[in-house]
Amino acid sequence: MAYFDHAATQPMRRSAVEAWVAASGALNSGAQYASGRHARSLLDDARETVAELLGCEPIEVIFTSSGTEADNIAVQGLYAAAAVAEAPGAGRVVTTRIEHSAVKEPVAALHAAGAHVDFLDVGRSGHVERFDALDAPAALATCMWANNETGAIQPITEIVERAQATGTPVHTDAVQVVGKQPVNFAELGVTTLAASAHKFGGPRGAGLLLAQRTPAPQPIMRGGGQERGIRPGTVDVASASALAAALRESLAESAEEAARVGVFRDQIREYMRNNIPGAVINTAEPALPGHLHVSFERTDGDSLILLLDQLGIEAATGSACNAGVNRLSHVLEAMGVEESLALGSLRFTLGPSTTQGDVDKLLTHLPEVIERARLVHG
Ligand code: PLP
Repeated sequence: MAYFDHAATQPMRRSAVEAWVAASGALNSGAQYASGRHARSLLDDARETVAELLGCEPIEVIFTSSGTEADNIAVQGLYAAAAVAEAPGAGRVVTTRIEHSAVKEPVAALHAAGAHVDFLDVGRSGHVERFDALDAPAALATCMWANNETGAIQPITEIVERAQATGTPVHTDAVQVVGKQPVNFAELGVTTLAASAHKFGGPRGAGLLLAQRTPAPQPIMRGGGQERGIRPGTVDVASASALAAALRESLAESAEEAARVGVFRDQIREYMRNNIPGAVINTAEPALPGHLHVSFERTDGDSLILLLDQLGIEAATGSACNAGVNRLSHVLEAMGVEESLALGSLRFTLGPSTTQGDVDKLLTHLPEVIERARLVHG
């Protein structure tokens, strides 16, 4: 099987499995007796590793159950914190139209509850191009670092600078970036950052929120005081250990891996440009090296996926969360891609398991797959 859906999830790394097994007996890291202190020391190790690898202080690391949870805490929690502090921007949110649903839906819920929402517009390349909405204070500005569908890397530094001028906290959904590129939380200057372990070879169901001391998000779940009270609940020490091990390995090989998958991605892109009439490349630089999003005129995404699947090639139309429902992607819509073209899209995402053999297999079969999809489409 040739797997081209690494942005959705990827196999757990052996180092992560081993770290998980080694910590699987850990009991309650909040208890004072010996087994609790042992669990606590494993958790501290994981927290320190993450802090060292991502350029933050250990206290800024909050372990969560997913990237989705980290995004929800940041968006809802910073919004609530601004209200509690009666900050000048309270009641207002700045965001983009290309966020993953883990940010888009909490923002939509805040809007339904009365928040005023302003957008940073993206251009046809999928990058934020207009920053004016940042020139008035807001409870938070939230912009993903790299888009999960196109791979487009967003101008986060510029967003942070503009937001800081009005004292607006910034959240970034860095789920597609962490583990693939160096990240330095302190230098970046965002208030909060979300990441997800399974995107870099850690376990599914484990995530991270990096959160500066202040302004800290208000908790969205009430309970014990774990994780600074921001994410209450007995901590999953084994998953935290596995996440830290996967992050270490993933970052150690990230430069080499980016170059390796970048070569494969360019091969696929050039092949499509030269051999598939009506292929429109939606991934524009700067972008993650393992991402390629393409629309094929006169096709539909569902048929493309099924036809490829029959040949042992796995790809997706876009975000993992939309899989199975081929509707117009809000990301492509925001980029101004026409609906009929957008519906015939595929996202190829490459990662550690990708080989030249996988790429060759894809390129051998792609022309016939597109042709057959066009016959079905009529
Ligand atoms: N944010 C982005 C950009 C993603 O790509 C994903 C996963 O697809 C998430 C958030 C959600 O992460 P998780 O699967 O850990 O909830």
